[in-house]
Amino acid sequence: MFIPARDAGLDALHEFVPHAGADYRRDRNHDQGPSRTNVSGLSPYIRHRLVTEQEVVDAVLERHSPQAAEKFVQEVFWRTYWKGWLEQRPEVWRRYRREVRMMLGDDLPAGCTDAVSGRSGIEAMDAWARELVETGYLHNHVRMWFASIWVFTLGLPWQLGADFFHRNLLDGDAASNTLSWRWVAGLQTRGKTYLATTENIARYTDGRFAPTGLATTARPLDEEPFPPAAPVTPAEDVAAAVGSHVGLLLHEEDLEPVSLLAPLGRAAPSLTATAVSADAESRSPGAVSPLVEKFTAGAAADAAARTVDADGRAATLLGGGPGPVVDWAIEERLDTVLVPVAPVGPVQERLDTLRPVLAEHDVALVTVRRPWDSRAWPHASRGFFPFRKQIPRLLRAR
Ligand SMILES: Cc1cc2nc3c(=O)[nH]c(=O)nc-3n(C[C@H](O)[C@H](O)[C@H](O)COP(=O)(O)OP(=O)(O)OC[C@H]3O[C@@H](n4cnc5c(N)ncnc54)[C@H](O)[C@@H]3O)c2cc1C
Repeated sequence: MFIPARDAGLDALHEFVPHAGADYRRDRNHDQGPSRTNVSGLSPYIRHRLVTEQEVVDAVLERHSPQAAEKFVQEVFWRTYWKGWLEQRPEVWRRYRREVRMMLGDDLPAGCTDAVSGRSGIEAMDAWARELVETGYLHNHVRMWFASIWVFTLGLPWQLGADFFHRNLLDGDAASNTLSWRWVAGLQTRGKTYLATTENIARYTDGRFAPTGLATTARPLDEEPFPPAAPVTPAEDVAAAVGSHVGLLLHEEDLEPVSLLAPLGRAAPSLTATAVSADAESRSPGAVSPLVEKFTAGAAADAAARTVDADGRAATLLGGGPGPVVDWAIEERLDTVLVPVAPVGPVQERLDTLRPVLAEHDVALVTVRRPWDSRAWPHASRGFFPFRKQIPRLLRAR
């Protein structure tokens, strides 16, 4: 269903653009099942930046007025918002990671194995669990219903539900996934939960599902407070930080090098070598779905094919440890490895492990951040409502 290549993402974008205005505003909440056409299905591409948020928004606004496309553009900015919010509160991710590791190391709660293998006894949940495993995708409304039933009807820990999604969604993303689960559970917007109801599900699945026996109340979950938010750190000054032998290392958070480096203009370093690294397994201590593995490896291979260096080659470095990157840097005699910024999540953890190992070999790890993120993230310090007010300004600045 989803081909892991930039060209496939651009084709999907161009096919969807005519529907990103009034059609999307009217129909987006309905889920007609896997053959759906009322939403873009672009998330696996955007999540890996095979296609960037900026490209999506540009293409849509070329065809529609900002008013007509307001809803769609806002949804794209939800992704940016979640990323900026988590960037300022990395401990939310770290605690979730620790809790998942602990829970997966213990006996799973009764009901969890049944729910993820499509045997919860709730027909809709079982169909959605199978759809997720078989396709790597779920409609947004289904994700909300699934998470709500998981937490409030089945009484299962939200962290294990989020982990099940993260291991199976092609678009699985530390910020959008973790924070959306927290939002459903009443942890994100304190005290505000999302309760799935039979009527809402029946209406928006066009009668395909109408599960009964769902929880009728949703008491928000509670947790220990987190440290206060820290401001987004300034982007690195790439021109000042790089040496004279620079290798570009792409990773699965950002696989589009042309628009990554273009804003640097004349300050863009000339590249001695290029490589792409990817490791889908770092999403979770549990087993990541074969579909996710295949999509991630395919996306990395596609990026490598598009990112050739002066010698006409780009290395593909699969696997999680620093070893392959360090070997590549030594072989290419690099003094700098330039990487796209990885927002809070598994790839950032990987880069944090890599940095000191490269330093032992006198190789600096330097990050380049897209202006899209630099402009938007600082505004994600509070709720989405104040962030949304900034969207017109962010659009003008793009
Ligand atoms: C419990 C839960 C878990 C989720 N986990 C993820 C995840 O791991 N990765 C992920 O990309 N999205 C996640 N989402 C958000 C949303 O469901 C998906 O982005 C969307 O369904 C993707 O389908 P689409 O590309 O057809 O979306 P469209 O409706 O066509 O939207 C266009 C794009 O906007 C962005 N977007 C749309 N809605 C949201 C949203 N609510 N939050 C953030 N970005 C959004 C996506 O990049 C999407 O591709 C989650 C939502 C919930 C409720």
